[in-house]
Amino acid sequence: TPSFLKPTTLLLTTTLMSILIQSPNSLPTTLLTHPISTHLRFDSLSLSAASSDFGGIVHSHPSAVFLPSSPSDITSLLRLSHFSPHPFTISARGLGHSTRGQAQASAGIVINMPSLDSSITVTTDGMFVDAGGERMWIDVLRETLRYGLTPKSWTDYLYLTLGGTLSNGGISGQAFLHGPQISNVHELDIITGKGEMVISCSESANPDLFFSVLGGLGQFGIITRARIALENAPKSVRWMRLMYTDFDLFTKDQELLISIKAEGEGWRLNYVEGSLLMEHSLKSNWRSPFFSEKDLKRIKKLAYGNEGVIYCLEASFYYDYHHGMNFSRADKTQMDQDIEELLRKLRFVSGFAFRNDVTYMSFLNRVHDGELKLRAMGLWDVPHPWLNLLVSKSNIMDFYIGVLKGIILKTSKSMGPILVYPTKRSKWDERMSTAIPDEEVFYSIGILLSSEMNDLEHLENQNAEILKFCDQQGLNYKQYLPHYTSMEDWKKHFGKKWERFVEMKSRYDPKAILSPGQNIFTHPV
Ligand code: FAD
Repeated sequence: TPSFLKPTTLLLTTTLMSILIQSPNSLPTTLLTHPISTHLRFDSLSLSAASSDFGGIVHSHPSAVFLPSSPSDITSLLRLSHFSPHPFTISARGLGHSTRGQAQASAGIVINMPSLDSSITVTTDGMFVDAGGERMWIDVLRETLRYGLTPKSWTDYLYLTLGGTLSNGGISGQAFLHGPQISNVHELDIITGKGEMVISCSESANPDLFFSVLGGLGQFGIITRARIALENAPKSVRWMRLMYTDFDLFTKDQELLISIKAEGEGWRLNYVEGSLLMEHSLKSNWRSPFFSEKDLKRIKKLAYGNEGVIYCLEASFYYDYHHGMNFSRADKTQMDQDIEELLRKLRFVSGFAFRNDVTYMSFLNRVHDGELKLRAMGLWDVPHPWLNLLVSKSNIMDFYIGVLKGIILKTSKSMGPILVYPTKRSKWDERMSTAIPDEEVFYSIGILLSSEMNDLEHLENQNAEILKFCDQQGLNYKQYLPHYTSMEDWKKHFGKKWERFVEMKSRYDPKAILSPGQNIFTHPV
């Protein structure tokens, strides 16, 4: 295990030796002789771990890895670079779940954020939690549940850091209701690219920096603390999967579900997602073991009779809520009736509605089960040429015909889920940096295929073909977790937000030090 993966006590002598043996000329002596140099690592294990990520496609070698023990170590590092005549690039690395080297820093310094190992504090009166940018969402969940509380908006996978998802958006099946994770942040502590620590940025204090950093791809500052909104936590979840053989009906029903207005005491539907289930990959899909063997056989048969694919709508209701430290048990009969009534309005294949009642924790942590399964099969640490898109509702059928049917289902026998679910633009604040389609309802599409059979080149070509199709047809779409290599493409990606993005860059990181792996700014602004 590379030393930097865990917080460790640093041995000055070891560090000095490694500096003497391996320190690259690219780092200034002001850094190498500064007291924080004891936090630098140059050993090959540390460097190679920081040169890879979940994608397994891009490998950029940094000059060193930095293990901060406090935010002030990061402040010093950023200042040393900013005020150096030869600034060096710096990338915060959460857990490296990026797929295209976004947390890497070629010949620069990668900050191993988990070294901060800061505390998580829940404030029950204000219904919020304060956690370090390096903390994983699973840890935040565990801590808030001790108080009967929970964050509202999630990602499908919880072993991601707050800093990493807040730099992108953080989308899952709750986003139609609560917005993405970046819509649920009260405050941030940020260290800018100039090495200034800005405490408690919010909608009212330093709003420019606050909103730029949300979805800002790590370009303006490093998040060292986030204050996240909480709500009462449910104890149980009614988790349902409904099968469709018709894509149009599948998406129309998803749209219906996210449009249902609150009645009486409020929302009953808490989560809406969906995916393509392909006959050939039903078993090795990391989207959790949900079906019994018997059900799987029936579903496979249904897919077989439908050109190898069916569409799975996923919806959840939360129940048995915490109030203070007590649970209010749901009136299950009433809930069953409400759900039955709702199901009657939907147009899934008769006899193909499945349900599980699970704990809230196991529902939210569902992808982890799939991860363990894939790890055991040696299918987790493989290249992941993922492509995530946000496609406007008015183009979803064009996308289905041209991309899902016309490209993926025609040629791909690769493994991995393909997610398709709608969400709402009005739940996003226009001032946040993330680029989204300019239509109220748009779809989150995750083409999350992994390369196992030396088919990386094929998948990369397929991604290029998909993007070409979307561009040529003029679809109203944006890349999510975007990857571009030219300034022109970035400009197009951000559209109306580009000018402001550049202005904020020149204000907060004018020397283009931060997150170089995003390939947005290669020169001072
Ligand atoms: P990293 O990959 O380490 O970093 C990502 C970017 O953020 C880099 O540019 C980095 O420099 C920057 N960064 C990291 N920490 C900070 C910080 N503290 N301050 C400022 N910048 C920082 N995303 C979703 O929205 N929804 C999902 O459902 C979802 N599911 C996923 C499932 C899996 C199995 C995986 C691997 C990823 C998933 N993602 C999902 C994508 C995920 O949001 C991104 O990978 C994200 O980058 C978080 O990963 P990370 O914390 O390891 O960040």
